[in-house]
Amino acid sequence: MKERIVILGAGESGTGAALLANAKGYDVFVSEQGQIKEKYKKELEQEGIAYEEGYHTEAKILNASLVIKSPGISDKAEIIRKIKSLLIPVIDEIEFASRYTDAKIIAITGTNGKTTTTLLTYHLMKEAGCNVALAGNVGFSMARQVAQKKYEWYVLELSSFQLDGTTTFKPTIGILLNITPDHLDRYEYTMQKYVDSKFRLIQNMEGQHHFIYYADDRVIAAEVAKRKSIANTIELSLSATSKALAHFDGKKMSFGFAESFSIDQADTTLKGPHNLINTMAAVSAVHVAGVPLDQIRSGLKTFVNAPHRLESVASINGVEFVNDSKATNVDSVVYALGSFDQPLIWIAGGVDKGNDYSLIEDAVKKKVRVLICLGKDNDKLKKAFGDVVGTIKETQSVSSLVRMALEEAQRGDVVLLSPACASFDLFKNYEDRGDQFRSAVLELKKEIENTDVVRS
Ligand code: ADP
Repeated sequence: MKERIVILGAGESGTGAALLANAKGYDVFVSEQGQIKEKYKKELEQEGIAYEEGYHTEAKILNASLVIKSPGISDKAEIIRKIKSLLIPVIDEIEFASRYTDAKIIAITGTNGKTTTTLLTYHLMKEAGCNVALAGNVGFSMARQVAQKKYEWYVLELSSFQLDGTTTFKPTIGILLNITPDHLDRYEYTMQKYVDSKFRLIQNMEGQHHFIYYADDRVIAAEVAKRKSIANTIELSLSATSKALAHFDGKKMSFGFAESFSIDQADTTLKGPHNLINTMAAVSAVHVAGVPLDQIRSGLKTFVNAPHRLESVASINGVEFVNDSKATNVDSVVYALGSFDQPLIWIAGGVDKGNDYSLIEDAVKKKVRVLICLGKDNDKLKKAFGDVVGTIKETQSVSSLVRMALEEAQRGDVVLLSPACASFDLFKNYEDRGDQFRSAVLELKKEIENTDVVRS
């Protein structure tokens, strides 16, 4: 009899896992508690893979010999508890996919900066002509790609939830960008459990592997110090006096590999101190992977980041509008504020996940002239910055927001949407918030330019 694999959750990772398991000859069953998107249903049907949606039928699940669960499903879900009580192994799609490929893997995790670093690493490899695929939290699932094609490299963005479902997963190069409190609800509100989850990245690493990490991060540094046998480490630092192999010397990013070299951030398309870390991480990884320096340099000049991450939308009357809607916690706002020397009209607010605004009080005092709160309930923000920022305004409409911002701004200022909060009070998600902001800015720009043409 064929071995039975049950897949819980039929999004991109679940469908990909089903396709791979089916190709490998397992008896596959997919169970999705919500609704399955049409495109995924079609694929499952084409391959003759059994599925259900709207509920989980225990009798069809608890007879599995292996369960692959979507990272979105918590370990506390009743069905997972039942599966675990029967000692049926539960793994992630990444773990499953990695068992069926001998490709080399660059895996990237951290609380913030994963997508940027993953896309940049992939871009640098791809531009250099490597046979490389992009997977994990971005693009197509790894399992789907393993089923369909043979790649030499995978560049993976991994969340802690995905890492939780790994056992034998072994990246050739692992990158850990930072660890700050986030998603603690999934970790029994215990920071160490979240830290342990992130460090699963290196649990199986061996001598020929590389661990790249941001050494200025106190949580990471403390954990590294606790662990003795870590494979080749490459430290990253923003401190000019640091001995880290890759560090920012105050002017340039300096890399002390056998062949040492340096890179000026002005020769890249990314700005801000956080992107120095992300760039040093990506460059170190692809250097170790064998990409020649001239290819790295030219790739850095052509990289286009995903939207909503310090995305420069437009300039109106000399005022630049920047969309950083992805900044849903205080930590990413620290870096956003640090990315500009100009005075800021800062737009923040939404659903607060327990923010400690004292972390940015100094930076806000120095840089922000006007704070515009964009949320249903703005009391906490107003209280935190009432004595810090000269002018505080609020609105719940994006079109009045951009007008208000332009009215408050002076030529040379930057209007920065970097909310420090989730978006669910007024928007579908952070993408929706950023998209609405971008459209409103572009519309206002058109309107103003048209008026200018009529006037002239
Ligand atoms: P993730 O995929 O981990 O959410 P993104 O690359 O999408 O990360 O960036 C999310 C937000 O975090 C953006 O607002 C960005 O400005 C900020 N950010 C990016 N890189 C870093 C970093 N290394 N440290 C802190 N914040 C960062």
